[in-house]
Amino acid sequence: MTASTDISTDSLPARLEAARRDYATLVAQGLSLDLTRGKPSARQLDLSAGLLALPGDRHTAVDGTDCRNYGAPQGLPELREIFSGPLQVPAEQLTAAGNSSLELMHDCLVHALLGTLPGATRRWADEDRIAFLCPVPGYDRHFALCERFGIEMIPVPMTAEGPDMAEVERLVRADAGIKGIWCVPKYSNPDGTCYSDEVVRRLAALPAAAPDFRIFWDNAYAVHHLTDDEVHVADILTACADSGHPDRVFVFGSTSKVTLAGAGVAFFGSSPANLRWWLACNAKRSIGPDKINQLRHALLLRNADGVREHMRKHRELLRPKFDAAHRILTEHLDGTGLATWSVPKGGYFITLDVLDGCAREVVRRAADAGIALTPAGATHPYGDDPRDRTIRIAPSYPDTTELQQAIDGLATCVRLVGYEHLAAAPD
Ligand code: PLP
Repeated sequence: MTASTDISTDSLPARLEAARRDYATLVAQGLSLDLTRGKPSARQLDLSAGLLALPGDRHTAVDGTDCRNYGAPQGLPELREIFSGPLQVPAEQLTAAGNSSLELMHDCLVHALLGTLPGATRRWADEDRIAFLCPVPGYDRHFALCERFGIEMIPVPMTAEGPDMAEVERLVRADAGIKGIWCVPKYSNPDGTCYSDEVVRRLAALPAAAPDFRIFWDNAYAVHHLTDDEVHVADILTACADSGHPDRVFVFGSTSKVTLAGAGVAFFGSSPANLRWWLACNAKRSIGPDKINQLRHALLLRNADGVREHMRKHRELLRPKFDAAHRILTEHLDGTGLATWSVPKGGYFITLDVLDGCAREVVRRAADAGIALTPAGATHPYGDDPRDRTIRIAPSYPDTTELQQAIDGLATCVRLVGYEHLAAAPD
């Protein structure tokens, strides 16, 4: 987060007046811009254009599997090998599946509700109550899954190193109804946080009262670096095994933001016992994944170095957008005391924190000016940000000119709403 200094009250009327003028000019432009979702831009998708011509006339995997046919429930070994390193899961404990990791998280919840997880005494559906810890700010689609299945959400604050572990330990020790925690360990959605080694160690060692407690380790941004400082997060699967909880973690990932967001490959990795459970559950659902898609991904990306090289091209397209957003926010907001924002080293998002009680109003004023933002509150369970201060910015999809206009306009809305709020506050 970059810091801002306080405003002196005597200059407030003049600043409010200037913000009102700028906002009127903004509205008069009649913009129609969208910063809502973290989608890759068309230019990023073009980086994987080669996929559309692959696998050509090939259809045989390295182990002889005919990719055109049913079977190979765990997915192709050559693709699992490529993503084994980035996802920190041995290839034999990794499955390559369909195109969406969110779908795999959904299915894990369904199977835990309707079947019995390794280590569980009964189905989650038969428990009086199920709760998940939700580090905030977090990913709205994780929260939507909990709501869908009636899983209670307990917010836990994020720190610069990951979830507040003292709070996590306190909660899971006392409450056997807490069955899981959502984690986006690297370049998290939305604030870009990377979990420290200490946080990973403490998560693995959690004194959970629930014997079937699971960490949903959504490593969606494992290879999505924006700087030369390629952050390394400790290996959770090994840490869990080392602390005597080998079945504690489910690892998820996908190529949605590596290749094609609508036609990539998703992965699930875990302990041997969890993998057997998963494959048995999934065997009822499918006679095998889309291996032609997996084969063309293996041919395009080739190996871990191929993934790194490919991600460098994404970085070349994304980095200027993140830099532009930071530059514009700094120009307009630094020193105002009205906002702080994250400067992520990777991932897809920037978190903008405005004055308490102002986020919804900023989003509303931006919408009135033709700039669509993710709804305020989406970063918190039940859409309820108790301080009403966090806004998620997704810079990837618009082109750079549109992005600059949108961030410029957003900064105007932050100034307008912030100064109105200060002017209305009692002395
Ligand atoms: N997990 C996180 C943290 C995300 O930010 C996203 C997409 O924005 C997803 C999962 C979705 O992944 P997939 O496309 O593999 O379903």
